[in-house]
Amino acid sequence: MLISRFAPSPTGLLHLGHAYSALLAHDFAARHGGIFKLRIEDIDPGRTRSEHVDAIIEDLSWLGVAWQGEILFQSRRLPVYGQALDRLRAMDLLYPCFCTRASIAAEVAASAAAPHGPEGAVYPGTCRVLGEGERRQLMAERPHAWRLDMARAATLAGTLYWHDDHTEVVAEPEAFGDVVLARKDAPTSYHLAVTIDDAAQGVTDVVRGRDLYAATDIHRLLQALLDLPTPTYHHHSLLADAAGRRLAKRHGAPTLADLRLKGVDPKKLAEDLRGGRLPAGYSAAGA
Ligand code: GLU
Repeated sequence: MLISRFAPSPTGLLHLGHAYSALLAHDFAARHGGIFKLRIEDIDPGRTRSEHVDAIIEDLSWLGVAWQGEILFQSRRLPVYGQALDRLRAMDLLYPCFCTRASIAAEVAASAAAPHGPEGAVYPGTCRVLGEGERRQLMAERPHAWRLDMARAATLAGTLYWHDDHTEVVAEPEAFGDVVLARKDAPTSYHLAVTIDDAAQGVTDVVRGRDLYAATDIHRLLQALLDLPTPTYHHHSLLADAAGRRLAKRHGAPTLADLRLKGVDPKKLAEDLRGGRLPAGYSAAGA
């Protein structure tokens, strides 16, 4: 049975780009006689708001995007992520990181040849080389994140592939460096939780925006390390405004809540978005 999903983070209101993605994921399942699921990725304690969760549910219902089964809330699954972290720790693939954003930025700035990956400057590995004694002492004293030792993990996993539609892609997670799998302020991370939950929800087909294409390399690596199945991915292009900019709140993209309050017809809106069109009056959003 084909299963797709929509997995928004309730850190803001949904805008037209989210609606487009939700419709594509929903329609993909419908077209194949499959199931469409909803997951709320509410693991960021500083930015998650319960009113945004309510708004997501209201917006999707208004738009006619119906999901099947229970909504999965990531905030209720922290012990599951903890077990995966234990497993990776037992494989000697994680290390605690005590660095702050500022200390990493200073170190990167001081190095002429600091490598950059898809998510910006690659972590310079400062805490990877700490001795056992120092590590133990710092762990008792300071908050810490857990990073993946990427070189070890990639070597252990060997060459990995995933499919974007029918195209086979070679995963290159090394470009990201030692990614954080558990944050200082949350006992998990986007990469870890998304990978575990796509498997937990039986997702066979991930339909999501092109902005997450590169991150799939990390998800593929985590699947290999944790013995999880690999879905087929379908990364779609991002809606752009008349100025060619990707729709985003900071560029004035209208939220679904705005459109709902303005009395926009949700059927017409869904039809426009399915055709890759922004609704009339919004084609120059933010311009
Ligand atoms: N929660 C992520 C976001 O809102 C999307 C995760 C995914 O589709 O893989 O950007």
